[in-house]
Amino acid sequence: MLNRKSLERSLARYADHKDEAVKARLACFGPALLKAADLKAALPAAEPAWTDEDIEAAREGRLTLLSTGAVTIDPAAYLDAVKAIAAELLSSLGAEGDFLAACQSIDWTPFASAELLADAARSPLAYLEKVEALAGESDLLDIYILPTLGLALRVFLDGAADAASELIAKTKSDTSHHNRPLRCPVCGSEAAVAAVVETPVNGNVKKLWCTCCGGHWLFERIRCAHCGDQAVSDLSYVHDEADDAHRLHVCKACGEAFPTVFAGDPLSFNADVEQIVMTGLEMFYDTSVSGENA
Ligand SMILES: [Zn+2]
Ligand SMILES: [Zn+2]
Repeated sequence: MLNRKSLERSLARYADHKDEAVKARLACFGPALLKAADLKAALPAAEPAWTDEDIEAAREGRLTLLSTGAVTIDPAAYLDAVKAIAAELLSSLGAEGDFLAACQSIDWTPFASAELLADAARSPLAYLEKVEALAGESDLLDIYILPTLGLALRVFLDGAADAASELIAKTKSDTSHHNRPLRCPVCGSEAAVAAVVETPVNGNVKKLWCTCCGGHWLFERIRCAHCGDQAVSDLSYVHDEADDAHRLHVCKACGEAFPTVFAGDPLSFNADVEQIVMTGLEMFYDTSVSGENA
């Protein structure tokens, strides 16, 4: 969630993370996330107007709520957010010399056209694909351009995505436990991270989180979040001996190792921070798996 308090609490928790690479990534992206949270807080509250049918269809993965056109993004406000986040990222990247000059010479205006933003509000994925095409062969695409634009877009979607997710969670029919979508019911992206959290009524539940829009939704505990496989024998968790709160849900059917946080108290969990923290275990796992296969 793009909320300063939640981000700060979570960032403070990992300030002394033992993996230096994780610490460096948190130091790099943390300030930009906080800036995005402040920009979001300054926007008017989201007033989504979805019908019960829309919500039900989204819950079953038949429709994404953004595709209904319920959110609009003001191009001038978006451009301001892009510039503010870009400045924050540049400063925490410690950019200097030619790299700094190249970053500073980027003209963001074409990425903030009214036409592109109309697409972005309906499908962030389609927008980011167009951004890639527009940016051409830039070396800065993955390290600077996409993170900046992705986070700026999130500023404008997060409030609506959170409201939408709460509406979906409230539909009574979710007790039926099937047809839960693999992709985000709000924007259609793949989930970034899963969390197992305690609830007062239903015990431990698993939720998937989309860090593209900020959406979240209930998911089966024993089911691959990538391919949907539910065969118990295909699914297992791996984790560091010293840390069983951060695990990878490994699926034999598709080979995916999905980042899953056993968070306990839902208030202590922040998907954006955990997505970065999980990169440490993911990289360690990738290396050990490719080592085994060598
Ligand atoms: Zn989403
Ligand atoms: Zn799978």
